[in-house]
Amino acid sequence: MSFDIYGNNLRSGYCEVHPDVHQSYPCSLCYAERKKVDDAKRMKKEHYRQMEINHQRDMEIEEQKHSFARSQAIGFNKWCDGLTDDQRYGNDYEFLYKKFLLYQKKQQEGKGE
Ligand SMILES: [Zn+2]
Repeated sequence: MSFDIYGNNLRSGYCEVHPDVHQSYPCSLCYAERKKVDDAKRMKKEHYRQMEINHQRDMEIEEQKHSFARSQAIGFNKWCDGLTDDQRYGNDYEFLYKKFLLYQKKQQEGKGE
């Protein structure tokens, strides 16, 4: 005499996990439950993968911001080199930087961008 997983007598030809299902183990219900678990695992995996992708993208955006700031700083220093000492040291940094941005804008417009 065999038993189901609950310790009850198992009728021959019935699933030991689903004793009401007249199919031997693993029955179609077993497969359906297995599939549910697999789907949940897959969704969780996909969720983590998506989070990693988002994290990676955020880091790339940060990196681009930094490299933009770096290239702006280099451009600004170059532009300052072309100023007279009076222009350069007679104005505060904010003012000079605004003038630099205006200069950049004009440069871009000149290129037809
Ligand atoms: Zn079953």
